[in-house]
Formats: sequence, structure tokens, C-alpha cells
Amino acid sequence: MAMRLVLLGAPGAGKGTQAKMLIEKYTIPQISTGDILRKAVADGTPLGKEAKVIMDQGGLVSDKIVLGLVEERVKQPDCQGGFILDGFPRNTAQAEALDTMLSDMKMPLTVALAVDVDQSELLKRLTGRRTCKGCQQMYNIFFTPPKSDSKCDKCGGDLFQRDDDKEETIKKRLEVYNQQTAPLIDYYSRKNIMKSVQGTGSIEDIFTKVTAALGG
Ligand code: AMP
Repeated sequence: MAMRLVLLGAPGAGKGTQAKMLIEKYTIPQISTGDILRKAVADGTPLGKEAKVIMDQGGLVSDKIVLGLVEERVKQPDCQGGFILDGFPRNTAQAEALDTMLSDMKMPLTVALAVDVDQSELLKRLTGRRTCKGCQQMYNIFFTPPKSDSKCDKCGGDLFQRDDDKEETIKKRLEVYNQQTAPLIDYYSRKNIMKSVQGTGSIEDIFTKVTAALGG
């Protein structure tokens, strides 16, 4: 049976990392609204320009915009065999609209999975994150520091911090998650499709727990 999965978890919980591993295992695409929006920002499209202001503040882009992006994406032929939604839905209105959209398409969600990580750990993961401008290699100054503060070990490129990883923005993103997104755990529990795993330990160990929760 096709797996149509929603991944839930606070910013920094490692949803994106697990999604990338799930793509390989189940050969289904990942739909990350954050990635789609960041691409629109990088391309400088009108939508990207509108979204950037909100993203830099840690707020949520309008439901209408993200719903349009998701609808366009799930209609692509590669989603017929299933998909992983990562970073969407972010609030109850989006979850309800998604249910309606997928039920019209006769492809309802089969499972929602939450990756749980406590808030102090999330703060370190997010504020410590650095990316190389040259090769996109990621570091964390607390957990996986580069040898030099500001240069990439691999290619010597400059390291930078994502605009939405600045401390003020992070606090706001966590607050938005707690207020608007965390209630979706109840939403999907009521629909009897909710599973959850602890998102601490090695990436491989978390992946083992994730696939076990998804039925292997
Ligand atoms: P992410 O990479 O998923 O943490 O997303 C980065 C930013 O993109 C978020 O802080 C929001 O500003 C925006 N964003 C991503 N997905 C959504 C969504 N489903 N609804 C509203 N805004 C979103």
C-alpha cells in the first residue's frame, strides 16, 4: 500500500534528515514546503519576495500560498506511489484543507509521525547550525564543529548562518510551533494515524525507530 506520510516535529527535530533517508528506503518523494519556499526566495520570484519577509521573522507564510504549492506538487505523477510531507501542515487550517484535498484525490494520508526533541536541545541544534557557502556542507558549532570557526573543513568556503537560524527568529519559530503546529498531534491522534518517536541519539538509531514505527 502506498505510504502517504506527514512528518511532524519542531524546527531542528531532524525531520528533514529522516525524510531524506525515508525517500531512499521507500522510494517516494519528499515534499518540503520550507525547501520549496527557500528555492522561490533564492530565485527571487514574486512569491519568494513575499515569503522571505515572513520567513526571516520566523512566522508562517499564508495558508493560501503553501496550500497552492502543495496541491501543485502532490498532483505530479511521482506522488502516485506515496509521498512524505515535511514541514506541512503547520496549523489546523492547513491540516483540514489537506484532508479535503487528498480525499478529493482519493489518496488520504496513511500515517503521521512526530519526531520528539526537547526545547533546550532544539535551541542548541538551531543556533549552532552553520552551512558552507561553497559546498553546502553543514556543521554545528556545539556538536560537529568545523576546525576553524568560519571556514569549511572540506572546501575552505565561508560558513554562514541561515537568516531564519538567528536567535530571535528561532525563538519565534519554536513559539509558532508550540502554539500552532503541536496541536496537530492531537488532530492526527483523533484520526488514529498518529505515531511518535524520540528524536535523540544517532541519526541511524532514530531512523531505526522511525521505520519500526512506520511498520518496517
Ligand atoms: P522549515 O524549513 O520547514 O522550517 O520552513 C522554514 C520557514 O518557511 C518557516 O519558518 C515558515 O516561515 C515557512 N514555511 C514552511 N512551511 C510552511 C507552511 N506549511 N506554512 C507556512 N509557512 C511555512
